Amino acid sequence: SASSPLPELDASKLTITLTQNPRSVPAAGSPEQASQKVCTDHMITAQWTSSSGWAVPELKPYGPLTLMPTASCLHYATECFEGMKLYRGFDGKLRLFRPNLNCARMLMSANRIALPSFPPTELLKLIAKLCETDGGKWLPKDQPGSFLYIRPTMIASDPALGVQRPKEATLFIILTCFPPMDSDPKGLKLLASKNDMVRAWPGGFGYAKVGANYGPSLVAQGEARALGFDQILWLFGKNGEVTEAGASNFFVIWRTKDEGKLQLVTAPLGEKIILDGVTRRSVLELAREKLGGELEVVERKYTMAEVAEAQQEGRLVEAFAAGTAFFIAPVGLIHYHGNDLGVPLEEGKGGKYTYQLKTWLKDIMWGNQQHEWGYVI
Ligand code: PMP
Repeated sequence: SASSPLPELDASKLTITLTQNPRSVPAAGSPEQASQKVCTDHMITAQWTSSSGWAVPELKPYGPLTLMPTASCLHYATECFEGMKLYRGFDGKLRLFRPNLNCARMLMSANRIALPSFPPTELLKLIAKLCETDGGKWLPKDQPGSFLYIRPTMIASDPALGVQRPKEATLFIILTCFPPMDSDPKGLKLLASKNDMVRAWPGGFGYAKVGANYGPSLVAQGEARALGFDQILWLFGKNGEVTEAGASNFFVIWRTKDEGKLQLVTAPLGEKIILDGVTRRSVLELAREKLGGELEVVERKYTMAEVAEAQQEGRLVEAFAAGTAFFIAPVGLIHYHGNDLGVPLEEGKGGKYTYQLKTWLKDIMWGNQQHEWGYVI
């Protein structure tokens, strides 16, 4: 009847078609593994239409999608995604890290670009099912400390070219191989952005994980690489507020000018120009819980001029970027207004607090420490 609700995304209805052509697993450390082109044997897809709701999700062999050239996502960036990892623990178990946060963020992102809603718990069940299906082969038990990258994605597959809310969408989940994530012993070199390149602005969508945030950042990123830097440090506004580093959140540890108090500082979420990173949140929570006696944890607006002043006065203690893909990456240098600002760093380890936070997180991700943030598959 007209009043009956449309079907929700329902992981319990998943149909399973296993591959007849198993793919080969690239060797650890090989160029294939690092290429980020190699996916595992299977993927999950689910179709949605505004008239019929969510169709039954399918687990099937990994392969191309079919889309009309008029598909909304190809023209209007009606696309959002997540980035997570599947970890092979030192206890032999496969784990996700706080996956409920990614699934909730995916829903938020989808809604920001007029893609359909879904129960985040159903998305998590689908992700877990794909991980269970391919994890055993692609992350062998004798390779603890390895991981796959998980990319849940939703696109508007609506073949109507009109600029309008899409009436058809496709959800898919894939697992890709990823290079090992050893950070550079000398730390990341960041290039502070100028006002001609802005990543996000109030009223925009910088807080959402939508493709539209990433394509336009690649010119600046390419320029930074060409000049020998690793990433852009995105500043915002006429006061040069520090926001994020590349596609990671950014933290500094400094001593305050007046009282010399040790603080861990990162930009706040309030203006919706910062992505609510799972790593960011975890760093803040761990620091509050375990380092509270040693340093103050502060989410506030701060400017690059403040960072530069702290550096010049010897009050800048550490800096690091934090995100799933490249994890906790110590920063060794920031180029700002023609100056190379060095950040203290112990080679190979980053600063003391950076290293400590990274170790706590690693231990949870790879099962050295049993913790509620670890989600065993
Ligand atoms: N900022 C941006 C812009 C990102 O794309 C990401 C990666 N998702 C992050 C920060 C880090 O978020 P997370 O810790 O959840 O990976």
